[in-house]
Amino acid sequence: MKTVKPSVKNIYATPDAMRAIERAGRVCYRSDGKTTRHSAAPFVKRLIENGHESILEHATASFRVVTDRGVSHEIVRHRLSSFAQESTRFCNYTKKKFGGNILFIKPAGLTPQQEDDWLAFCERSERLYFNWISQGASPQQARHILPISLKTELVWTANFREWRTILKQRLSTAAHPHMQFVAGKIYDWFLKKYPIMVFDIVNLDAYYGKEKMLLLSKNHKTSKKELWQLAFAKEEEVRINVAKNKTTPTTLLHVLAKDLMEKVQKAALCAIGKRRKKVEQNEDFG
Ligand SMILES: Cc1cc2nc3c(=O)[nH]c(=O)nc-3n(C[C@H](O)[C@H](O)[C@H](O)COP(=O)(O)OP(=O)(O)OC[C@H]3O[C@@H](n4cnc5c(N)ncnc54)[C@H](O)[C@@H]3O)c2cc1C
Repeated sequence: MKTVKPSVKNIYATPDAMRAIERAGRVCYRSDGKTTRHSAAPFVKRLIENGHESILEHATASFRVVTDRGVSHEIVRHRLSSFAQESTRFCNYTKKKFGGNILFIKPAGLTPQQEDDWLAFCERSERLYFNWISQGASPQQARHILPISLKTELVWTANFREWRTILKQRLSTAAHPHMQFVAGKIYDWFLKKYPIMVFDIVNLDAYYGKEKMLLLSKNHKTSKKELWQLAFAKEEEVRINVAKNKTTPTTLLHVLAKDLMEKVQKAALCAIGKRRKKVEQNEDFG
């Protein structure tokens, strides 16, 4: 058996997506004449602010996601998406092309003992899978011996409106940690390529890092939940002020970061550095 890290990679997107959305949207207002070199992003932002999100459906993006079967069950609940997923019925993991190994994704946050148990369990399930196949079982029979940690790959395609719905749900700390990881990577892609698409969706982990958020709560002597409530109250401010065109989301996010950081002692910052190093050495995620 081998473990692999989860990953997310953009493999396709509508070229010049903001322009494609603008072109479609301007038909509604017959305002094609107002198109300029820089008109697409503000036009799309106005669509979002006005709740005219059906126009966002004219652009799509596809990601190749490597995760475990459990998380993939959650992913495929997003009905307005399209999927192609590695089949445990057709893939025979004893074949040469799989390198003599079955691949698993390590769950997040295990204790050392739980990790040992989990490894032993995966090793045993791999052994049984190989035995069953050698005794004549088909892959679709033998797959029943494999755990939910089995690695899977999907190509996940959705239109931009659906991506916004997905990100709002899956960036939440209520989502599974591996699901948050997948959503975080997709959010990062949008932030870099089409920031307007996520201007009103604030992923605090992306700005501060999950570890920092945890440490902030520890050093505040407050629960992580309270800290998130504080952060989300601020996030509401961000939304209101951005909607009123008073400032940009980035400026407000800096204010938010400063606000939170002021409450942290110097010692905490030092601890963050040390903890970061530890996390970097022990990263569960790719
Ligand atoms: C934190 C968290 C915990 C969860 N826990 C559970 C759980 O315990 N059990 C469980 O079964 N699921 C659970 N889910 C999955 C959840 O119930 C949804 O199935 C999943 O998040 C997809 O959401 P969706 O239907 O809004 O989105 P999509 O299927 O992606 O649809 C996008 C949007 O299209 C619209 N839409 C789609 N289909 C319809 C329709 N038929 N009628 C009207 N509007 C429609 C809705 O506006 C919807 O938001 C959980 C999800 C999260 C984020």
